[in-house]
Amino acid sequence: MKDTIGFVGLGNMGRPMAERLIGAGHSPVVYDRSQAAMAELATAGAPTAATLEELAERVETIFLSLPTPEVVLAVGRAIAAAPGRAKRVVDLSTTGPKSEMELADILNGAGVALVDSPVSGGVAGARKGLLALMAAGPSAHFTVVEPLLAAFGKVIRIAEEPGKAQVMKLINNICSAASLAITSEAMVMGAKAGLDADVMVEVLNAGSGRTSASVDKIPRFVLPGSFDFGFAISLSLKDIRLCLDEAERLGVPMMVGNAVRMLFAVTKADFGPDADMTAVIRPLERWAGVEVRGRAAREA
Ligand code: NAD
Repeated sequence: MKDTIGFVGLGNMGRPMAERLIGAGHSPVVYDRSQAAMAELATAGAPTAATLEELAERVETIFLSLPTPEVVLAVGRAIAAAPGRAKRVVDLSTTGPKSEMELADILNGAGVALVDSPVSGGVAGARKGLLALMAAGPSAHFTVVEPLLAAFGKVIRIAEEPGKAQVMKLINNICSAASLAITSEAMVMGAKAGLDADVMVEVLNAGSGRTSASVDKIPRFVLPGSFDFGFAISLSLKDIRLCLDEAERLGVPMMVGNAVRMLFAVTKADFGPDADMTAVIRPLERWAGVEVRGRAAREA
């Protein structure tokens, strides 16, 4: 597959995933609207394309890791306008099912297939090749890209139709966001009652309160006070919004999901769109007049 792969979007997730392809012996041609992001990958040995059109001229399989549905659709339209050698697009972004189906129509109209393959596991998972990948797309194209996806982590086949994997991804992310929200609230309550933050995490993880928030996000990014898990609050709020939109379309009430959305919206309004998602504890801390920090923060 040497030189037949392209990679668009070299941000928090895209960069380590493109690096894993390089580590697996591939030579992905990379493109990002940010010159700085491209320069980093060029240093790691990746050939670069100056435009999307040039990229599509050079490769058959194009991976996307882009921030929002709007950006994914704009990039999809540009590829469809000049497909060049492109045979298939593999979308690793979180766009929601509606946009993903629209993307499939746009690409299919230009003879390009779409494999919908959102990912879960964060920047650390992307670096280590330990992501969960949910893949939906035509079997003939899925078979071609499955060995490439395996460089990113565990590939789970969801369906033939693009869009279905996005539904699964939204389900995963609302669970992850809700866990972070409720664990943050509960830890603030414990801190106000005088409990030690490290001890609270130890108990949660030994007991039935264990979640990805108590195992990973809170001990590694909240207790030390670093707030650098690597997922922007604006993008995590986008995922919650996409999930609630889809639930509404399906006629499924999501009361807890709506409460989670409010906390994420308040955090974005307070700390800005680029704040890390783990900052959702910060408005709660301010309201309660306590901080949830652990040994790591005290010893820093
Ligand atoms: P990011 O904002 O860090 O990276 C996005 C990259 O896309 C940036 O380098 C940006 O310059 C580039 N870009 C934006 N518009 C572009 C355009 N028109 N053409 C080319 N490049 C463009 O975002 P991220 O955190 O890496 O997330 C990427 C996707 O993966 C999102 O859909 C997100 O929801 C999803 N995701 C993120 C995480 C996480 O933990 N960060 C985990 C799972 C899934």
